[in-house]
Amino acid sequence: MTRKQLQSVAREHGTPVVVIDHDIIRKNYFEFKKHLPKVQAYYAVKANPAPEIVRTLYKAGASFDVASLPEFMLVYENIRRLPPEVQQDFIWDKIIYANPTKPKETLLALDRYKPLVTYDNLNELKKIKRYAPHAGVVLRLRVPNTGSMVELSNKFGCDPGEAVDLVQAAFEMGLVVEGLSFHVGSQCTNFENFVQALNMAAAVMKESRSRGHEIKILDIGGGFPAHYNKHVRPFGQLARKINAEIGRLFPQDIEILAEPGRFLAATAATSVARIIGKAVRDGKTCYYIDDSVYHTFSGIIFDHCQYPLKAFKSGKTEICAVFGQTCDGLDTISQSEELPDLEIEDLVYAENIGAYSNASATWFNGFPPAKVVHLNQ
Ligand SMILES: *Cc1c(COP(=O)(O)O)cnc(C)c1O
Repeated sequence: MTRKQLQSVAREHGTPVVVIDHDIIRKNYFEFKKHLPKVQAYYAVKANPAPEIVRTLYKAGASFDVASLPEFMLVYENIRRLPPEVQQDFIWDKIIYANPTKPKETLLALDRYKPLVTYDNLNELKKIKRYAPHAGVVLRLRVPNTGSMVELSNKFGCDPGEAVDLVQAAFEMGLVVEGLSFHVGSQCTNFENFVQALNMAAAVMKESRSRGHEIKILDIGGGFPAHYNKHVRPFGQLARKINAEIGRLFPQDIEILAEPGRFLAATAATSVARIIGKAVRDGKTCYYIDDSVYHTFSGIIFDHCQYPLKAFKSGKTEICAVFGQTCDGLDTISQSEELPDLEIEDLVYAENIGAYSNASATWFNGFPPAKVVHLNQ
């Protein structure tokens, strides 16, 4: 995406606007496949649920991780139109429902698709047995999330010590444990988390086998770090570690899947906003833009992420503050951004804003979410 393209999109569609480049989505997907050839990628739809992204990834060969009934239907409706199969094999190959907690209405609605769903406790297992008896189940383990940008281990995953009993409990109820899963935390730059998680999963699999329960699928979750800046180590380094551990710890015929969200979507989008106000406070220039942390920049709050702003104008830069358009003090995009001297109506842009950004935009203060424009679909 060139700066010229961004400016022309902003001119044509107005601001705020999020520009998604599907060439980058495909490039990220093929990079994932190249480094982890034995792993099927199930795109975590919550990172960015644009149906256009679902279709592009489906055509490239990806599968999908969903976490709600609407996400399940979004994927199902967008991939069903291509081949007509509705068999269980097709569903499992293409969709995993990876939210360990599901309301009974969702289970009731999912049962007819014979889905693959995750669980991490006995109450959930009983619910699945009662409301979605045709589902296959995957047990989610709690694994270290040390140093990841977003931690998930406080909320999800069974204690490794309970895992084998939870596998046994499922079989005793007449359900089949098809796989084990984990999530090392989002934007995991501490590669040891993956090593530890793989070792824990291997131990659970081994112990289950000794009790007569063979588990066929290993789901290594998400967390693959997006290349936000040069401090993020190359994906190939992480992939080498993962491949080595998988080769060492698991049988040759194990089926492996992963749930990358951020890795596929983050670098594919750039947002463009317009300066709508300018003031000087305590000697610092403050810019107000027509987007906000309640909109495209929601990742600042929910995702602990920062998106450096850039100007199309050149010139000597100075430290300034950038605020969103809403009437809320929390709506601060940056207290120390380096920008040249800008005027009202000038445009600024933020790169690598494709994941957990417009996905969690609201209508707060009456401002609608930014328009989304797709390039190279
Ligand atoms: C959010 C989520 C993902 C995606 O995580 P990333 O860090 O974006 O790769 C994968 N699996 C589950 C179960 C999730 O909740």
